[in-house]
Amino acid sequence: MDSLPFDMPRFEPGAVWLVGAGPGDPGLLSLLGLHALRQADVVVYDALVSEAVLELAPPGCERIYAGKRGGRPSPSQPDISKRLVELAREGLRVCRLKGGDPCMFGRGGEEALALAEANVPFRMVPGITAAVGGLAYAGIPMTHRDANTAVSFITGHTAGGAVPEKLDWEALARGAQVLVFYMALKHLEQISERLLAAGREADTPVAIVSKATTPEQRVLVTTLGRCAAEARAAAIEPPAIVVVGEVVRLRASLDWLGASEGSAPPGEPHEPG
Ligand code: SAH
Repeated sequence: MDSLPFDMPRFEPGAVWLVGAGPGDPGLLSLLGLHALRQADVVVYDALVSEAVLELAPPGCERIYAGKRGGRPSPSQPDISKRLVELAREGLRVCRLKGGDPCMFGRGGEEALALAEANVPFRMVPGITAAVGGLAYAGIPMTHRDANTAVSFITGHTAGGAVPEKLDWEALARGAQVLVFYMALKHLEQISERLLAAGREADTPVAIVSKATTPEQRVLVTTLGRCAAEARAAAIEPPAIVVVGEVVRLRASLDWLGASEGSAPPGEPHEPG
């Protein structure tokens, strides 16, 4: 990175950088994220951080896994925050690496609050969130002038694991033109039923992008009425985002990835990848 025509901020010992790793493809990591990884003394990373990104850390850099392991629950959020504070106080450069963007359903805000409270200097390094990366790699523009003037990012389950009750499903069904759901695969049946019950048309196009931007990316194009059954039948695996709205139709013309791989022709109702 010596050849860049601008200066990067110094990663001071004793600081924590909350870095978004992007959704999978290491090419989607920001220059600042790469700068952080290359200088880090220790990387604390989550389950959704791709191996390809992790490999960019220098060989001497300690790697601490903070996600779920072998079915056991992940370390509690207070424990992770406490660990970050301890590592920083040891005088280390701590790279806290999270999938996508740290603050999009990623608890980056909670960790930053803990660091602020402990007077540990920190920096936020945004990442390409799964919705942005996944739609781009599925050939679906997030907005299109003829289709939508708004996009909503929604989590399909709460911290307790249930479908979010406090959401105004009527407003989402009727007012929000494009909906992108995270963590929605498990509750897809309930989510789609709620949107249908609140007045969204059953033939509204839906795309499910699984393992977006990785070599295992799969895209299922379906409709709101059929998405839950078809996702099950196609054995779509997490992590996946679910996109609801007219912009999904543009994939028929814009599936650049499928076209470059010579996979299903554009316009097929169900495309494997
Ligand atoms: N901070 C992350 C989101 C964490 S929540 C971000 O900004 O992307 C975890 C959810 O993100 C998953 O359940 C899934 O809905 C989505 N997700 C993360 N990586 C993904 C990927 N490569 N492909 C599809 N969805 C992904």
